[in-house]
Amino acid sequence: MLSALDSVVLAIDIGGTKMACGLISQTGELLAAERFATAESLDPEVLFAPLQAACQRLIDQSPLAPKAIGVGCGGPMRYPEGIVSPLNIHGWRDFPLRDRLIESFNLPTIVDNDAKALAVGERWRGAGHGSNNMLGMVVSTGVGGGVILDGKLLHGESGNAGHVGHIVVWPNGPPCGCGARGCVEGTASGSGLARRLAMAQAEGQPTSLPRDATAADIAAAARVGDGLARFLFRTAGEAVGRGIASAAALLDLERVVIGGSIALLAWDLLGPPLEAELHASAQLDFTRNLKVVHAELGDRAGLFGAAQLGLSLL
Ligand SMILES: [Zn+2]
Repeated sequence: MLSALDSVVLAIDIGGTKMACGLISQTGELLAAERFATAESLDPEVLFAPLQAACQRLIDQSPLAPKAIGVGCGGPMRYPEGIVSPLNIHGWRDFPLRDRLIESFNLPTIVDNDAKALAVGERWRGAGHGSNNMLGMVVSTGVGGGVILDGKLLHGESGNAGHVGHIVVWPNGPPCGCGARGCVEGTASGSGLARRLAMAQAEGQPTSLPRDATAADIAAAARVGDGLARFLFRTAGEAVGRGIASAAALLDLERVVIGGSIALLAWDLLGPPLEAELHASAQLDFTRNLKVVHAELGDRAGLFGAAQLGLSLL
């Protein structure tokens, strides 16, 4: 039960397909939440208006006035300014999200990367519970991450610490959206898998898959024995395992929490090569006991993470 001594924060989770906002107490109680589809518009105000309205409805019905706002949003962004240009929200380019929320609600506000928020959320209420040295990883349309070291979320020079998706694990490997080759993201993300399939089809490699197959289609084909689909997922799992081994050696991690749609829908295909490659590559004593676990909070991780970011301002 909410006590009058509790603090409440407004948590906001912004993605390319949906937005969510919620009221969360400092004891981790989700008091109310709203979810809605991200508007398809190039007008930044058409994107912001429903978010502002949903937040206002939550504040109006809250038994306690929220004391801060925490936001997890897709990158890239300028941190800590909170000026966002999410890759998959085309209507927001250099949109001053943090300033607009401060103008609207007059509360201390922090805007951070959505993968960093997931890491913080899973540590607070999910599979990262009790870990002071963990990597939270999202394997989805892209591959993102957030690092908690010595109990603190790492930010780095420009707020971008934790971009585990761009560790290079395959010299001269598949092209990545970032412009490099052989990144974890270019190999194992949903967009990377689709791009690699298209390239293999253009080279004439045999497969049962149609030209515009999604990562879910590739997973289904791999399960019924399509050789190319099986190769794509095996190398994807190896890429993630190699990336985790490198991160573990660099950071001395205790745990890796993996979430995201690809990890969720295809762990049967991704997990075994990941574990095998991790086992082969993590040979230092301190990396051998690294635990790789599934995220537990699903689409609530972003909201709980955003709430923790907000609570950090109090
Ligand atoms: Zn990359």
